[in-house]
Amino acid sequence: MTAPTLKTLDATATVLEARGVSKHYPLHGSVPGADRGLARLGRPAPVVHAVDDVSLSLGAGQITALVGESGSGKSTLARMLARLTTPTSGDLLLNGQVVRNTRRRRLDYPKSVQMVLQDPFASLNPIHDVYYHVSRPFKVNGMARSGADLDEKIASVLERVALTPADLFMRKYPHELSGGQRQRVAIARALAVEPRVLLADEPVSMLDVSIRLGVLNLLADLREREQLAILYITHDIASARYLADTIVVMYAGQVVESGPAVQVTDSPSHPYTQLLLSAAPDPERAEPVTLRGAGSPPSAVAPPSGCRFRLRCPYAMAICADEKPPAFPAGDGHLSACWLLKEGHKSSAALGQSITPGAAAIASAEATPHPGRRSAGSRAGEDMPGTKKRR
Ligand code: SF4
Repeated sequence: MTAPTLKTLDATATVLEARGVSKHYPLHGSVPGADRGLARLGRPAPVVHAVDDVSLSLGAGQITALVGESGSGKSTLARMLARLTTPTSGDLLLNGQVVRNTRRRRLDYPKSVQMVLQDPFASLNPIHDVYYHVSRPFKVNGMARSGADLDEKIASVLERVALTPADLFMRKYPHELSGGQRQRVAIARALAVEPRVLLADEPVSMLDVSIRLGVLNLLADLREREQLAILYITHDIASARYLADTIVVMYAGQVVESGPAVQVTDSPSHPYTQLLLSAAPDPERAEPVTLRGAGSPPSAVAPPSGCRFRLRCPYAMAICADEKPPAFPAGDGHLSACWLLKEGHKSSAALGQSITPGAAAIASAEATPHPGRRSAGSRAGEDMPGTKKRR
């Protein structure tokens, strides 16, 4: 039987899909001609494995959160989805059609897929006002040239991101806006071309905590009002739970777990997801963190064999070094690439008895309620670390 592919839930109307995409960057050695020398010896030139064989689908009216620590490949994947970087292998499909690398497709693609960057301070030019920034996509795409038509379109898109009254904001310069308002201008600029997909790369991480919620709620409103397919990239799994319908967890360039947001955060089945949840701030947490991180992410040039998390995993066993774990079902629409999910290894407590002393210690610690897991009687979103489900 073929193992299921580790990707997000199939949405009823998938807009953008990545199929088995990888991105490898050549590692230019300090010794000139070293790569040619390796080739003569029949050895492959070293590459940085930024993203390896990732599949992902974004559905209309859905928010998918891509979660992982720095260096896990989240932003590289987003740049491939935005076609700012060409995949080394794999396909992108827009509205079910493979995206070809022709000049026409390159010019048309940004009309469907737009990206919002992390830093609203850097993404706006300080010498131009809001009117200039938001007018550019209309002019470049021939949607409005000047005059009342352009003014009307700019006012309309500013109102869509709740920058009202629009007349007040049109002539403001970036330094006259708060961080949240700047990010709203960046989102307005992306929305001007009426895209179907919005890729938001850490859109709130540079903002003050007090204004993050407003921008997250704006994304949620855009999903509902405009049926946008949104990819929300973050290292904060608590905000992912609050906002997203689906969570995809990446580690060392690969997807390790995916599924409905509440299920992934309530019953994380991959040890790395458990580690992320353990690290999420939770003011209501009475017990100390039950699963502590150890070690650091592996080399992206020579990633470990088998499971890439095995050097940090307290449950690692022999098979984890020998074979890459396939995606095992962990619930309804919930998949996890961990050998613990293979039949016979379903309980981490049982695993703790049979594997290493370290694993046994963790397993006994897990007998206490996990900070990321709800008690059986609790309602959805009531005891999420640091936040609650938005809806
Ligand atoms: Fe740990 Fe093995 Fe699961 Fe990887 S496959 S997370 S090493 S138990």
